[in-house]
Amino acid sequence: MMKAIQVTRYGGTEVLELREVELPEPGPGEVRVKLAYAGVNFIDIYTRTGLYARSHTYANEPPFTLGREGCGTVDAIGPQDGAQVHGLAVGDRVAWCLALGSYAQYACVPAWRLVKIPDGMSRKLATALMLQGCTAHYQTHSLFALEPGHSCLIHAASGGVGRLMVQLAKLRGAIVFATVGSAQKAEQARALGADHVIEYREQDFAEVVLRETFGEGVDVVYDSVGRSTIAGSIRCCKRRGTVSNFGAASGAVTSIDPLELAEAGSLFFTRPHMADYMRDAQEVGWRASEMFAHAQAGRIQVAIDRVLPLAEAATAHGILEGRGTTGKLLLAVD
Ligand code: NDP
Repeated sequence: MMKAIQVTRYGGTEVLELREVELPEPGPGEVRVKLAYAGVNFIDIYTRTGLYARSHTYANEPPFTLGREGCGTVDAIGPQDGAQVHGLAVGDRVAWCLALGSYAQYACVPAWRLVKIPDGMSRKLATALMLQGCTAHYQTHSLFALEPGHSCLIHAASGGVGRLMVQLAKLRGAIVFATVGSAQKAEQARALGADHVIEYREQDFAEVVLRETFGEGVDVVYDSVGRSTIAGSIRCCKRRGTVSNFGAASGAVTSIDPLELAEAGSLFFTRPHMADYMRDAQEVGWRASEMFAHAQAGRIQVAIDRVLPLAEAATAHGILEGRGTTGKLLLAVD
């Protein structure tokens, strides 16, 4: 048996329960990992509340063990008579994202989703670079591949994903507009290299962007905030620019009129799932290894906001939902 945080029914933080459940057995192509840390992400909140209940990519019927990110050591390898597991051995230090069940002492993970943690890199750092790091990577390198001279707007720029996106965007030579929810967060975004920092609870961010770009707008808006920002994001995007609505921190965007996109300058609008940009071992390995290399070389700073015990998962969700983090929130499992 093992301890796990389960979602007992969709709802608020009260539906998270610490339970004793069966130790999972790895199937073909899977590896069982003994967890050290589980990453807490907004997707866990969407999964808990049922926002993704009808998603083909992320749906699950309660009760289930929550968490889609973690790190630890390989504890067991699935039967080698079907899908084979290559290049992993018991005792290897590994990290992953997108496989469900990391708020637990053990989790079974498809081997292709795992990356080995480089020697000398802390497990906390590696975890911070998986779901949040690889999201920042796919947004800035694939969804809209920034190049020198591009301008971008990054919302919630001092959050876990946002901080990393600001730094990657600067590394790629872009001009960065950043929105944040407080003066303290504004200082952090500036320190990370953002060129224009806007406190969007005080100022109309679209107006500031339009003013600073002489009415033109930015090439791409990376909007993870959703309901409260999307209209402004569309308003301050350049003609034929791209709006990536990749999150719903303030609530989900439920409808966009295509004509509105035409009127705003023939915009490209996308609502991406990370899973579509982490399709196979090669893509997972590429993004994770680039993020690890940036961190090891000191090209990006990674913030661990805090570490709470596994049993305090509900508290962790409350802090993340309440705009209380500026970096990675982790649950310590061992
Ligand atoms: P963050 O650390 O960025 O936390 C969310 C931030 O959103 C808050 O700190 C807050 O920053 C801002 N925010 C604005 N309005 C609200 C509101 N009403 N309630 C709560 N927060 C608000 O979280 P993560 O780094 O974990 O994730 C960032 C976003 O990226 C999430 O929306 C998540 O869903 C999305 N995401 C999407 C993925 C994808 O592939 N589609 C993959 C991974 C993450 P401030 O106070 O500065 O406004």
